[in-house]
Amino acid sequence: MTTEIRDTVILGTGCAGLTAAIYTARAGLKPLVLEGQQPGGQLSITSLVENFPGWPEGVQGPDLIENMRKQAARFGAEYRMAQLVSADLTANPIHLQTSAGEILTRTLIVASGASARWLGLPSEKALVGHGVSSCATCDGFFFRGKEIAVVGGGDSAMEEALFLTRFASKITLLHRREAFRASKIMLERVNADPKIVLRPNTVVEEVLGVEENAVRGLKLRDVRTGEISELAVSGLFLGIGHEPNAKVFAGKIDLDTDGYIKTQNNVFTTHEGAVVPGVFACGDVQDRRYRQAITAAGTGCMAALEAEKFIVEQPS
Ligand code: NAP
Repeated sequence: MTTEIRDTVILGTGCAGLTAAIYTARAGLKPLVLEGQQPGGQLSITSLVENFPGWPEGVQGPDLIENMRKQAARFGAEYRMAQLVSADLTANPIHLQTSAGEILTRTLIVASGASARWLGLPSEKALVGHGVSSCATCDGFFFRGKEIAVVGGGDSAMEEALFLTRFASKITLLHRREAFRASKIMLERVNADPKIVLRPNTVVEEVLGVEENAVRGLKLRDVRTGEISELAVSGLFLGIGHEPNAKVFAGKIDLDTDGYIKTQNNVFTTHEGAVVPGVFACGDVQDRRYRQAITAAGTGCMAALEAEKFIVEQPS
């Protein structure tokens, strides 16, 4: 049996992947879009998006994603649940081994995004789903009237803390340094909220409650004095950033020291400095600087246009 050769395979269904799907579908490339473990990417677990142009009142992240998905489908994008297991990028067509079988393609657009980062404590791992979460919009509901903690000093942590004020009675925001990296507007909102207490210079040493299989508190350390204390909470939310989903490409595409895909002109991937023909990257998997929905959409569009150009210029 011969395996069909696709024009374009897109890895990921976040803002970057779906924008690439809209553009390649409209160009007649019939993109095959592979959906991973978190369909819709980070927007699917975000609440109100207030900075995506065109929605003066804001738009719910899942609604924005669903609309993009429908828009790409209308022009012929095909969706398939599959994890990429390995890829041979050394020849064209590109060979992809996925959990749903082998796929051959002329172009590959990597839009696999970034996943939530964890502290890495054994007690944290043991209690994921039992009071420890990285998604306020998914799990906030379970903490109605409870005291909880959020870790992080960036916009994600601020957004999580503000969202959780709908449910929790008190939120302690723990940050490992004195200065917060969050934007001014988010910090102002957090500071103005009577339910949120900021606790800088503090790290979580252990999540308490492993024996009971439910979070009952945190063991904390003040990084200036070394003092250890306990904080009674029934929930811990992580808002400490994300890690790029690019491990499968290690050794095949150049990655930076934190594992982000290095790109030339935003979307061209390289291997040992030379452009990898037909392989493009867009969105958070290659963007450690901006990481916004609109920039992901922008690079998704650019990757799609380059994929189209690559196919047109290939000898048939
Ligand atoms: P981020 O800006 O990288 O912030 C991550 C935070 O977590 C930092 O404060 C960092 O501490 C802390 N952290 C990292 N690893 C840690 C660890 N092991 N233990 C304790 N603390 C740790 O990530 P982000 O907040 O997810 O934001 C990413 C991008 O998305 C930003 O550009 C942000 O503006 C954007 N964003 C925007 C919005 C919005 O506008 N509504 C919402 C969410 C995200 P240090 O400061 O010490 O490094």
